[in-house]
Amino acid sequence: MGVPFTDVQNWLRQYDKNNITIGVVASHSSLQILHGARLEGFRTLGIAVGENRRRFYQAFPGADPDEWLMLDDYREMLDYAEWFRSKNVIIIPHGSLVEYLGATNFRNLEVPTFGNRGILHWESSRILQRDWLEAGGCTMPKLIDDPHKRDGPVIVKYAGAKGGRGYFIARDYRDFRRNVDIEEDFTIQEYVLGCRYYLHFFFDPTQTDGFQVRGTGAQSGKNLGRLELLSMDRRDESNVDEFYKLGSLRDLREMSLEPSFVVTGNQPVVIRESLLPRAFELAEGTVAASFNLEEGARGMIGPFCLETIVTDKLEFKVFEISARIVAGSNPFVGGSPYSDINEPFMSTGRRIARAIKSSIEHDSLDSIIS
Ligand code: AMP
Repeated sequence: MGVPFTDVQNWLRQYDKNNITIGVVASHSSLQILHGARLEGFRTLGIAVGENRRRFYQAFPGADPDEWLMLDDYREMLDYAEWFRSKNVIIIPHGSLVEYLGATNFRNLEVPTFGNRGILHWESSRILQRDWLEAGGCTMPKLIDDPHKRDGPVIVKYAGAKGGRGYFIARDYRDFRRNVDIEEDFTIQEYVLGCRYYLHFFFDPTQTDGFQVRGTGAQSGKNLGRLELLSMDRRDESNVDEFYKLGSLRDLREMSLEPSFVVTGNQPVVIRESLLPRAFELAEGTVAASFNLEEGARGMIGPFCLETIVTDKLEFKVFEISARIVAGSNPFVGGSPYSDINEPFMSTGRRIARAIKSSIEHDSLDSIIS
């Protein structure tokens, strides 16, 4: 099950800590990661398939990598493990890397990687995510076992749904029955009406000041590390965001159209300040619970995102967690209304590089790498 931590520690022991290279697949949030790594004084490596991909970075000299590894297929990264290690590379994972490599290949990639790859297992299944988030005190949208008994709107998520395509909203049971494809696996959730906020947190287990996460369960009585709120976004989703212009859900169905939730961009937002204590409570609980997920769990390390809907009762419903940098942090290359309070120009990408730099200085790199 993935690369043994003792191997990672051995590789790191052989690394030249004065010559670390930050490596990233050229997609998702790579501009921000490369730019942040450069600001913190690291060499950078871009990994790409296709010359067109590489060329595009010339438009952003502030992020253009010092070196490129060009591949025919991202899965070739597995064969380059020794080459990466010879260059003291630390890979920064993001959603596209995991998608391009596949979860199993990513866990088996024999290269030191920022964050805890073990958490992927808990993030990758809706059921395990729910166990984790609820253990952390998050309220999630209710699961509907019997749509018959439900009298409000629901959202139906097909198991194979990708990129926000393959969900549908049903107003009531009749609507559900008319539109559902019972040949497919799906889960049904209550449709939560409210405003979406994607909260970008960063957990640094090496820091002993600031907002300390209090351990729970086996970790009770311990401070686990520092929790920071870096930024917040809302996704643009096509076509559901613009749907209303053509009329009601029924009008659309008459035109053979269904809403889709395909992310096309991100907008910066802030929430009411009075909601922040609750946001921290949810994030603290989630981090604390991550240390109790399994025997010897290393817990959350680095950036994570709680994807929430705030209702008109000012309650958060958490519908998902991403346990790594999210593309929603891309509007904040130059900082955010939250991170600016502590230090200007601190993006999530730069914060990752800062964590690596600081743990090199304290000879504790293995505490944030897997
Ligand atoms: P997900 O794939 O879970 O990230 O969901 C994609 C999008 O579907 C979200 O960004 C929301 O716009 C919407 N969504 C997901 N779950 C719910 C829910 N329970 N209630 C309302 N909207 C939801």
